[in-house]
Amino acid sequence: VGHIFVFQDITKQQRLENMRKEFVANVSHELRTPLTTIKSYVETLISGAMDEKEIAQQFMNVINDETDRMTRLVNNLLELSRLDNKQVKWDMKLIDAKDVLINVVNKMDMNIKRKNQILIVNTPDKVPEIFADRDRIEQVFQNILSNAYKYTPEGGKIYLDVEAADNIVRIKFRDTGIGIPKEDLPRIFERFYRVDKTRSREMGGTGLGLSIAKEIIEAHGGKILIDSEVGVGTTVTLEIPAVAATQTIK
Ligand code: ADP
Repeated sequence: VGHIFVFQDITKQQRLENMRKEFVANVSHELRTPLTTIKSYVETLISGAMDEKEIAQQFMNVINDETDRMTRLVNNLLELSRLDNKQVKWDMKLIDAKDVLINVVNKMDMNIKRKNQILIVNTPDKVPEIFADRDRIEQVFQNILSNAYKYTPEGGKIYLDVEAADNIVRIKFRDTGIGIPKEDLPRIFERFYRVDKTRSREMGGTGLGLSIAKEIIEAHGGKILIDSEVGVGTTVTLEIPAVAATQTIK
């Protein structure tokens, strides 16, 4: 039995080491890609493209977008590292998850309308409060809703359902988008894991949105589940512990 334990320990350690190496390689690659683009556009500008106003404007826009992407990536990495090191200062309060969700919907409404997508929100009037960090819950909703928006084509539908059941608040984000192949689902919460790297990049993704969402939801004692079918759509379900109404009256 001792031998088996030793054997398992080593493989576990190796697995962690491999994950670490893969992570560092991913980070380097993700940072180098926008840097290479920025560098080559700047060089072209320096060597004369600046004189043609329209082209120069176009190039600057690309540089601006790539800088934004790098900022997003670095911010996401910092957030993950804080979550990993338990350095997050949680600002826990009793909050209404429905309010937070509606806030996020309002922020994304313009984008959704521009893509001719239809957003259908279904929620009871009153939802039990959750004990949570409002900004971070908002970030989770934002990450998941923006995925639904990004990976659903023009004219598609996004359904948001809020339910209160058995001391949990359940929030479902369902879209009629491109879906995720069954074989990718088990790895979808891994850092940098994407079904299609090129597509994710075109959409401005970093491949970290779902892993951050998972860390945050689990830190709240909740669960995040995903189900999907290619060509049909994706459903991400959040289950967050609710605070019973009787507990809040104090
Ligand atoms: P990204 O920044 O690439 O969107 P995420 O961590 O948020 O990173 O998601 C990981 C991957 O999961 C995405 O690259 C995409 O392939 C897939 N994905 C996430 N949400 C959806 C969705 N609603 N529909 C289809 N694919 C999705």
